[in-house]
Amino acid sequence: MRTQIKLISFLSDIGNLIFPQSCLACEKELSRFESHICSFCKNDLPLTNFHLFTEPTHTDKLFWGRVQVSNTYSHLFFEKNKTSQAILFNLKYKNKPELGVYFGKAIGETLKQSHNYKHIDALIPVPLHHKKEFIRGYNQSEVLAVGIAEKMAVPMDKATIIRTKHSESQTKKSRFQRWDNVNEIFRISDKIMEYRHIVLVDDVITTGSTLESIIQAIRKKNPDLLISVVTLAVA
Ligand SMILES: [Zn+2]
Repeated sequence: MRTQIKLISFLSDIGNLIFPQSCLACEKELSRFESHICSFCKNDLPLTNFHLFTEPTHTDKLFWGRVQVSNTYSHLFFEKNKTSQAILFNLKYKNKPELGVYFGKAIGETLKQSHNYKHIDALIPVPLHHKKEFIRGYNQSEVLAVGIAEKMAVPMDKATIIRTKHSESQTKKSRFQRWDNVNEIFRISDKIMEYRHIVLVDDVITTGSTLESIIQAIRKKNPDLLISVVTLAVA
């Protein structure tokens, strides 16, 4: 057994010589004692610790007066020009799905400790339009959900909510117009009626408009469904 471990470690060192592993956030070469994220970036992560809050969190408040959500959790604070921005950028644009799985597992470990997420029927990643997913190679919310699903032993469902249209650029629109724009771009299948509690998974929450419109669309089919929201970051 010991020899086998030594051999695996030896082979991974050789592997590192041939294909050096680099930090998924800052791209610095990792030592053999580090995986995915270097220790500097790990220490620099702006963890929200929202799971320890007894008062409403920033993510909770984003939905106030808009739609009913059961629980929310965001793992990191989005900070400009810092590690969390690099992580989100690399996850979305630098073809690093393993970054999503890595943080999904960290989120899953955290949520496993919470009573609020004990009875979840499905994790549903916020869908991308299929053309966009094809170009990017993966859906960043889905790779997060894969990691969460593994740790929580809850199935992921990527078929029940479908994005039917590309959304136009939303940045120049008011909140009301934005809502109008995204309101008709999601289609919800009847499978949603089989669930009692689902968790919507997204990479980052900013205004919450996209999640709000998905929740509105879901409520038309299953008004009593418990819906929780989990994101990697909150801006
Ligand atoms: Zn790093």
